[in-house]
Amino acid sequence: MDVVPRKKYCCKYPGCNNWYYINTPEGFVNKHFFVFPKDPTQHQQWRNICKISSKNSDFFRICEDHFDESAFVNEKKDRLNFRAVPLVPTEPSGIHLLEDLPHPDQQSKIDEDPSSSALSEENVNVVGSLSVVSGPL
Ligand SMILES: [Zn+2]
Repeated sequence: MDVVPRKKYCCKYPGCNNWYYINTPEGFVNKHFFVFPKDPTQHQQWRNICKISSKNSDFFRICEDHFDESAFVNEKKDRLNFRAVPLVPTEPSGIHLLEDLPHPDQQSKIDEDPSSSALSEENVNVVGSLSVVSGPL
């Protein structure tokens, strides 16, 4: 009864699991997929952004999710502007690293709250006791 969708190709963008299906169940709309550009420079840009190490990416495709609105030439989003490049993937691990860093405020307080004030108090006491001792002489 149910149509079993057949996968044709998948999106090569890092972390994306979108597939293009040949026969789709009713109501399911395939994403638009875009082949890698023919221009070698632009092709390399796409490869870099998608972190593709495989030698042949001529027939690789990525889906519409990875482009800014401005990259499309029409509202259907099935055509890209000839200079379009995919968005750079966000890396959550980078954010965690930033959160683990100590607050700069706290650190400078520890450094500045020195024993220097405590030391100077000690010095005063020493001087005072010395003068008391030397008094009777
Ligand atoms: Zn995708």
